[in-house]
Amino acid sequence: MELLSLLYPHSLSLAVSMKRRDKRHYPADSLKTPRFTGPFTFARLPHVREPEGLDAAFIGAPFDGGVVFRSGARFGPSAVRQGSLLLRLYNPALGVKPFDILEIADMGDITVVPSSLERTYENISDAIRKLLQARVTPVVCGGDHSITLPILREIKSVHGKIALIHFDSHLDTVDSHFSLRYTHGTVFRRALEEGLIEGDRSVHAGIRGGLFSEDEIKRAEEEGFTVISMDDIDRIGARKVAASIAKRVGDYPCYVSFDIDACDPAYAPGTGTPEVGGLTSREALLLVRGLTGLRLVGFDLVEVSPQYDHGEITAILAANLIYEFMSLLALSKIKRG
Ligand code: MN
Ligand code: MN
Repeated sequence: MELLSLLYPHSLSLAVSMKRRDKRHYPADSLKTPRFTGPFTFARLPHVREPEGLDAAFIGAPFDGGVVFRSGARFGPSAVRQGSLLLRLYNPALGVKPFDILEIADMGDITVVPSSLERTYENISDAIRKLLQARVTPVVCGGDHSITLPILREIKSVHGKIALIHFDSHLDTVDSHFSLRYTHGTVFRRALEEGLIEGDRSVHAGIRGGLFSEDEIKRAEEEGFTVISMDDIDRIGARKVAASIAKRVGDYPCYVSFDIDACDPAYAPGTGTPEVGGLTSREALLLVRGLTGLRLVGFDLVEVSPQYDHGEITAILAANLIYEFMSLLALSKIKRG
């Protein structure tokens, strides 16, 4: 126990002592039924249709009509559910049992319209609005990165402008592709124009690879964003980077958007626009895990494209990153009392 406390400096005793009271939503017991038996929901949580009574909800947005290169992220939610089957109840690194603390369930997938971004946006907005009205924190699994814009619009209408923590190898602030203003690469340009994000509190992290022009990063910085390149993370270390991001966000309501291509293709081959030289899975876990103490209003994990995956490497990493985020939500619920 002493050694464990040294390894995991978080409040081990506090979380372990939290009892599983009268929980209404709890994962299937993997000591009683094998993990490979369905139905296949995220972390074997119950599937529910209505958000009432939940603190947070896992929900899929299986749309990839916004991509400009490889398609396939429409199969992201089902792959990530499959990749989540080995998740366990206790997160020793954060000292918390998220499913004991949170009322959380898998709400299935938002009804998307494969060939219509407009109609898909309407459906995503409706689904997220319904969650927010019931005071349920959305934990959304894409889909390509275009799904984030309608989520941010709904978040804005409830929480006002938010701080954005954006993990990605790309800035996603291109003005248009093929004259199209709504793609997975334009999402944060539109979000800024629509006044959804407070640039001065926001961060792009994991940025690397070639750019369309020499002033893309300069422009992001002029918009107030802190741009943390992969070189910065390499030099400073993931733990310190996470702490500096948390400091910058402060007490602002904060939304975290994690594009799986922030991770190196060695750790996340199953994605649409891979960039070499990225985060290891350990660094990615440290970066999400390090965001403790923030006012988290939502999360998405996007761009998992299982056709390009091998041995579920990408899907398992994505599932674990979502689990870390759920653990953060559980910690903030404990803190609120
Ligand atoms: Mn990307
Ligand atoms: Mn992206």
